[in-house]
Amino acid sequence: FDRFNSDFDCIEPLGKGSYGCVYKARHKVLDQYRAIKEIRSKDLPREVLVLANLDHPNIVRYFSCWLQDTGYKYMTKTLYHKIELIKGVDLLLLLFSSEVKINTKFLFIEMELCEGGTLRRWIHKKNIAPAENSRQRQSLEFARQILSGVEYIHSKKLIHRDLKPENILFGQDGNVRIGDFGLATQDNDDGELVERTEDSGTRSYMAPEQVGVNYDRKVDVFALGLIFFELFWRIGTGHERIKVCKTTCTIGERVNDVHIIKTMLSTKPEARPEASALKTELKRWTGTPEGNTDQGNLTV
Ligand code: ATP
Ligand code: MG
Ligand code: MG
Repeated sequence: FDRFNSDFDCIEPLGKGSYGCVYKARHKVLDQYRAIKEIRSKDLPREVLVLANLDHPNIVRYFSCWLQDTGYKYMTKTLYHKIELIKGVDLLLLLFSSEVKINTKFLFIEMELCEGGTLRRWIHKKNIAPAENSRQRQSLEFARQILSGVEYIHSKKLIHRDLKPENILFGQDGNVRIGDFGLATQDNDDGELVERTEDSGTRSYMAPEQVGVNYDRKVDVFALGLIFFELFWRIGTGHERIKVCKTTCTIGERVNDVHIIKTMLSTKPEARPEASALKTELKRWTGTPEGNTDQGNLTV
């Protein structure tokens, strides 16, 4: 049964990720627009379990989910290898036939449509436009909203693990919505580091310890430090940005005057402040003086 096409009119693709596609769709009965994320998966991804239990003004609102069968499909062995669905396949079949018959399940997640675009787009627009004094004020407000969402995620004993401007969206009210809980995981209570073996998170926003197996919610605080840095400073080209992100220790030295970001980017997780503490600090923080955010020539 094809619930996607029976309940929704698919309008257009909004984005493509590593595990599937996100579409803009119209709910036929309600006549409302939604974002529908399609994930190719054999098991129920954590993403939906996490999202369905979150309810916060700065987190993408969840509506429903369902599993949908795509029916049997034949594909060549090479293609099959490529999409890495090898697990659970009859190996003999794979060895002796040139084609493989598979039955893929897709999980669909119906969420709020965030038409305001991503924070990546916002930052890019601000960086190519002439410097504006209002950037400082807007950045502070977005930083406050992102922190509010992250504080809530951490209060639910979860770690997002993939905070980056591409995964931060804007809702219809113009406010921040944190999305993409594809890598979210449980944080533990007693302050002990949790062992995780998967290689996850976008490398350029990853905290140094995240390449290993022992880390906790402070990896989110590190990623936030980089996001705040990009929010408040004009950084030129993508190439320059990548360089900046890769040499995070250098940033730590460059932003001496902005103590708050420096502590967030500390290589020692225990030295980074909690999201809840940052929220209070941010209220007092006015950042660099007006006009001084335009540090277009900042290089590393
Ligand atoms: P990645 O592999 O990059 O992490 P992903 O497969 O996990 O991607 P998402 O990050 O959830 O998928 O979504 C991919 C893109 O789709 C986003 O960057 C965004 O542009 C768009 N998108 C996702 N959710 C929404 C939404 N609720 N409203 C509008 N656009 C969205
Ligand atoms: Mg994403
Ligand atoms: Mg993702």
